[in-house]
Amino acid sequence: YKEIHLANRPEGTPTDKDFNFIEKEIPSIGKDEVLLRTLYLSVDPYMRGRMKDVKSYVEPFKLNEAITGGILAEVVESNSDKFQQGDVVNGTLNWAEYNVANAQSVQKVDPSLAPITTRLGILGLTGLTAYFGLLDIGKPQQGETVVVSGAAGAVGSVVGQIAKLKGAHVVGIAGSQEKIDYLINELGFDAAVNYKSDSFKEDFKKAIPNGVDVYFDNVGGEVSDAVIFEINRNARIVLCGTISSYNNPEADLGPRIQWKFITTSSMMKGFTLGDYAHDFKTGAQALAGWLQEGKLKYEETITEGFEKTPEAFLGLFEGSNLGKQLVKVADP
Ligand code: NDP
Repeated sequence: YKEIHLANRPEGTPTDKDFNFIEKEIPSIGKDEVLLRTLYLSVDPYMRGRMKDVKSYVEPFKLNEAITGGILAEVVESNSDKFQQGDVVNGTLNWAEYNVANAQSVQKVDPSLAPITTRLGILGLTGLTAYFGLLDIGKPQQGETVVVSGAAGAVGSVVGQIAKLKGAHVVGIAGSQEKIDYLINELGFDAAVNYKSDSFKEDFKKAIPNGVDVYFDNVGGEVSDAVIFEINRNARIVLCGTISSYNNPEADLGPRIQWKFITTSSMMKGFTLGDYAHDFKTGAQALAGWLQEGKLKYEETITEGFEKTPEAFLGLFEGSNLGKQLVKVADP
């Protein structure tokens, strides 16, 4: 079977050459272990950070070792009473067609609750990130204006919908007309603007007649500079990601906008999802409830074929995904 290793620490935008496909033999499994056949894997922007050899909240990937990430897999063989052949499980595993894992390190997925792929998206890492970041830090109130960048992506699309459920005026920022139409027509955003348009700043101002109370920031860079110039008194800026700078070889330094925070008594707070590990169950239940009631919608962009994994990952930096980007490796 095949496994993907990190071949180099990319400078700038990664390319195919940074990923190495290694052939491996399926090993036999030991006590309490399961053999897993990968069905779907998740590609995520944060993985770009793990390709750098810097100290961060997660360890860097090791050179010439497997890249790891969120995976849905089917149990092929089990030496644990926790799992039977045919069970679907979710865990952080190697980017590989097969994995051997300790039974304690993966969780069983109930396919009757929602389509299994939701565990890698709206009911998994990206949905929970939206839920906790928006509700715990952004704290949107009825009638306030919530702006979200990366709005048509996995996290952003959930942020905007939860903000609507809380009665906010919701404005999305995304990179294509197709995404703008999706946000307004499918997800019910009040407005959406294209940051790649020459008229972005004027379009954005028109979309926020009452200024900005909450800004959920997925992208950083110039988009965020434009939003922060428009914040109201007591605004809350939720720092979730800065994808616009992940491929920059140098640290990203922007205009110095601290005065905006001083003069509006606003605050900006970063977080990683792990901060809320103690509360994942609450978040997952709330998201599943909204999903079942039809109050939340989600989109997935599914690239077919394990060998397309690097391409799907690199597509995140070009905005080729609508909603959660996944790779389908095999049929259940
Ligand atoms: P998305 O599904 O949003 O995919 C990434 C999107 O980013 C693309 O579709 C693209 O959309 C947009 N993008 C790419 N390059 C740029 C750029 N230069 N400027 C502006 N937008 C760009 O990914 P996720 O939902 O998984 O992640 C969104 C953000 O949240 C990322 O920054 C990620 O690192 C962060 N994150 C943080 C977590 C945390 O714990 N703090 C956990 C999970 C994610 P477009 O077409 O609009 O450009």
